[in-house]
This record gives sequence, C-alpha cells and structure tokens, in this order.
Amino acid sequence: MSNADQPTGPTNFIRNRIRKEVAEGLHERVITRFPPEPNGFLHIGHAKSIVLNFAMAREFGGYTNLRYDDTNPAREEQRYIDAIREDVAWLGFEWKNECYTSDYFQTLYEYAEHLIEQGLAYVDSQDADTIRAQRGTLTEPGTPSPNRDRGADENLEIFRGMRAGAYEDGSHVLRAKIDMAAPNINLRDPVLYRIRRARHHRTGDDWCIYPSYDFAHGQSDAIEHITHSLCTLEFEDHRPLYDWLLDNLPVPARPRQIEFSRLNLDFTVLSKRRLNRLVEEGYVDGWDDPRLPTIAGMRRRGFTPESIRRFCEEIGVTKSESVIPFGVLENSLRNDLNERAPRTMAVLEPLKVVLTNFPEGQTEWLEAPIHPQKPELGTRSIPLTREILVERGDFMEEPPKKFFRLKPGGEVRLRCAFIIRCDKVIKDESGNVLELHCSFDPETRTGQPGADRKVKGTIHWVSATESLSARVRLYDRLFNVPNPASDKETDFTDHLNPESLVIMDGARIEPHLAEARPGDFFQFERTGYFIPDPAASPEKPVFNRAATLRDSWAKIEKQLQQAGKGRT
Ligand code: ATP
Ligand code: MG
Repeated sequence: MSNADQPTGPTNFIRNRIRKEVAEGLHERVITRFPPEPNGFLHIGHAKSIVLNFAMAREFGGYTNLRYDDTNPAREEQRYIDAIREDVAWLGFEWKNECYTSDYFQTLYEYAEHLIEQGLAYVDSQDADTIRAQRGTLTEPGTPSPNRDRGADENLEIFRGMRAGAYEDGSHVLRAKIDMAAPNINLRDPVLYRIRRARHHRTGDDWCIYPSYDFAHGQSDAIEHITHSLCTLEFEDHRPLYDWLLDNLPVPARPRQIEFSRLNLDFTVLSKRRLNRLVEEGYVDGWDDPRLPTIAGMRRRGFTPESIRRFCEEIGVTKSESVIPFGVLENSLRNDLNERAPRTMAVLEPLKVVLTNFPEGQTEWLEAPIHPQKPELGTRSIPLTREILVERGDFMEEPPKKFFRLKPGGEVRLRCAFIIRCDKVIKDESGNVLELHCSFDPETRTGQPGADRKVKGTIHWVSATESLSARVRLYDRLFNVPNPASDKETDFTDHLNPESLVIMDGARIEPHLAEARPGDFFQFERTGYFIPDPAASPEKPVFNRAATLRDSWAKIEKQLQQAGKGRT
C-alpha cells in the first residue's frame, strides 16, 4: 500500500496549525521526518508518531524522511536499523529519503566551529559532575564556569584538538554560551559535544567527539529542509534551545518543532530501556515476542498493519497525557479481522465424543461458509466422522442452571452439523471423564425439516480421526497491573503476568489448515483470532492467538479500578 491510500483520521491541533500556515503561504509543501534512535525495536508508541508524520506530509503535498538518530555509538546497532526499516515498511509507509544523523557529522562539526567563532560556544574543561552541580535548580540560577570567557581562538584550538584525538574522554566538552541564569535550565550553557572513544556502527573510528541530541536534532532537521519537526512533549522545554541554535547558525532552512503527548498503554511498558531489559534478562523470547508492544512482536502475534494504523488514528493527537486501555488496541484488531478472517474450527482441549448412530468408518464432508456474512468467499469442506472432539470445557456433568452446552441428557447443536444429545458419560476408575456417547438427530441437519429446531447452545468440534494436531499459543497481558512501572518500591518485572503465555500442545484443527501460511489469519470459532506462527516448522503447525473474540479484560480492569488499584 502506498502512503496515498492511507486514511487520514480525525483532525487535530497539529493538522489545523499546518493547514493555517499553508493557507498563509508559509510552506509550499510539508516535509516531516521520523527520527528513531537505533537502540531498540520500534513499539506501538512509535507507530503513533509514524502515522502522524506520514499523514501530515501526505496531506500537504510533501514527503517524510526516515532518519536514524545515531549519535550515541555506545547503544546503537545495525540490527536495530534493519528492524526499524522493516517495521516502518510493514506498517505501509514509504519514506522519501533514508537518512542518518551520522551523515551530517562533518556539517555539524562546522556549525560548532561557527558558534565558537561567533563567541556563542566555549570549551569547558571541568568534569561532568562539576558542570552538573553548577547548573542550579528551578529556583536558583546556575554558576558560570571559570572557562566561560575563554577567547574564541583558544576555544577553536582546543576544540580542533578534541576532534583530532589529542585529549582523553571526558577532559573537555563544548558548551553553548547562552545564559546561566535562564529560567529554562536547558538554556544554561548546554553541552554540545563530548569526547567519546567509541566505535560507531557507520562512521567507525572517524570521530572521537559526538554531538549531543540537542545539537544534532534541529540542525539535522534544517539540513533535510524539514518544515515541521513533530516530537513528544518531553522536548517542549528543549524548544527554546532548538530555536536558539537554528537562529544562530547558517542553516539552509528553518524548521519548527511541535510537541504532542506520547502514547501510553496500560498493562505494558513503552520504553526501550525497559523493553531492552525484558529481552536481555530473558523474560520474553526476543524483541519480537508476541506479548511485547513492539511492532515486530505485534506482527508475530497477528496484528495487521491496518489495525495498528486505525488504532493510531482513532486515539488522536493532543497535548494532554492519557493512558489508553490495551483492550482498545485489541478491539482495533478484532474490528479488522471480524470483517476479513476466514472462519474455521479448532478444539484446544479435546474431549472425545462418539456419535453412536453415525456409521462406523465413514467420512462425510460438510460444506460450511468461510465467512457467515460473505457468501462470496465460498465454502470449506469439514470432515464429519463417528468420533469427534469437543472442547472439554463445553461439557459439565453437574452444570449450574444457565449452562447451555453439553450435559448428561442435554442437547446441543454442533456448528455446521446437527443437534446431538448426550446419552452416556464414560469414566475411568478415578472418575475422570474419558468420552461421551451421544446420538444425533438427522432431522436437524441443514436442509432437513428440523434444521431450524432451536436448542440453547451451539458448540464447535472437529473430527477425531480426520483433524490435525497443532500447538496453540495463547497470549495474555504481559503484566498483571495496569501501570507496572509506576511503583517506586518495586521493579516493574515484579508485576509480570505468569500466565501471559499458555502453550497447548494437544489442540486439533480442521485439516484444511495444513495449507495455512504466514500472513494468513483465521477466526477459530468461539476461541479467538489466530495466525500461523511464522517461526513454526512445517511438521507441526503452530497457531498464535492474536486476540480473544471479546475483551474479558475490560471487566477485570473495571474491578481493579473499583478496588482502588486502577491506573495512576
Ligand atoms: P523510548 O522512550 O521508547 O526509548 P524514545 O523517544 O527514546 O522512546 P526514539 O527512537 O528517540 O525513542 O523515538 C523516535 C520518535 O518516536 C520520537 O520522535 C519520539 O518522540 C517518538 N515516540 C517515542 N515514543 C513514543 C510514544 N510512546 N508515543 C508517541 N511517540 C513516541
Ligand atoms: Mg529518544
């Protein structure tokens, strides 16, 4: 899908502002960028930023660059770059240029010399702790460094020495010379360059000084002629510095920074640092573990790009902080797959049922619709045999009043087949139910006079002899509290949900699912939306549950909130 096919979603304050600027003739076209730091995989929060950036550029006749913000060689890796590229493309977006902040290292260096020459930057030879201690507080001004009034020539000489590798790591930094008494602490002579001998994944050992985020970001925006630099609210206090640098440098364009609130989701964590810990410490099976809110994890779980884009549009873009229930994200997937997913039956925890009046050794093929509301999708063939399997949980020997599934002497409809009655329960010595003997009513088959006879329950089933064996993985919330990182007393990993992954090895599926391939998705009737796991071996099919059919957590969340344990 190309960018042009993307829906635009509801309007927001950023779109309104850009529309006004375009109407006033301030821009010919809108150019945006998505600037991830390649120190981890992208998550659903990044998707919000991606959707916004691409939507604004497309709507106003421009384009979006994908820029790897790679100024911290200690944490960045090529595999993260590859993953980011794959994820943005999978979400359905085409960027114009693939850029790296490291491509601008020479230009940024020249900008730094320019500031020195203008008397707007100086080399500070104090250590990091001293510099931090002199920053002051919100109520007290900072203390000027003794190096603040070093002459431009001396500054230039030391800075060139820093670049040439003449000094130890940490022995000097370059600072902007702005205002040590500024109410905004970001303007109290922020650090622009540090000496750091670290091999960079792209520039190797070419550089031993690296620009700070603040010095690199706005200038990179200007070099790429970005018109609107959209970022999250934590950068709002950096905007005066962003503007100061652009106003004082010979940059080729004048971008504007606009901030919006981050996406927060409950029952998960959206910070690369925390996600990295879950991966590194083995709590999950890699960055693409289906329980993680990473794009790669969500893809492996069964989320579609459409459902993620729709979710990002629906939550909107504002300046106020909020927490979105995880169920909203799942609902977006349900809405998408309910429309599109072929229906099939799978029994996760089988219980054998013998249809005593069905001929032995015979297989009858039933035609069932692939999608009940979409006859144009055609039918699938389901084998019906004397021995079938139903869900263990669909039978109760001593059921409560409103149990409308199988019980001794009770009737239930088998989906796509007929009504059966439970005549006999076979047990082992310890009283465990081994199998049920049931008889079917031939008058209740599709096309027969009794076809519309009503019974209260309908259950799914598969043939015991013609179905295939499969493994299914059932995923649930990764954490069992809404905001696992909020509590200062505990580590967020203390709140991991031990039942976030349940593997069931005895599941049985309709035989046509042998042909299922990665990229397919299905509704297993009554149990949820499933996809074939892309990493499964061909011998044994593995299906991941992307979502249940209904949001059982909505209820639990409400109870938690009522109990005072709700989101903070
Ligand atoms: P994290 O906190 O997960 O490490 P980050 O902000 O450090 O995230 P970057 O790679 O620097 O990650 O982010 C790239 C872009 O994505 C930035 O413009 C950032 O503002 C945006 N972004 C990151 N997290 C979110 C979020 N939760 N909601 C919306 N936008 C986000
Ligand atoms: Mg960041």
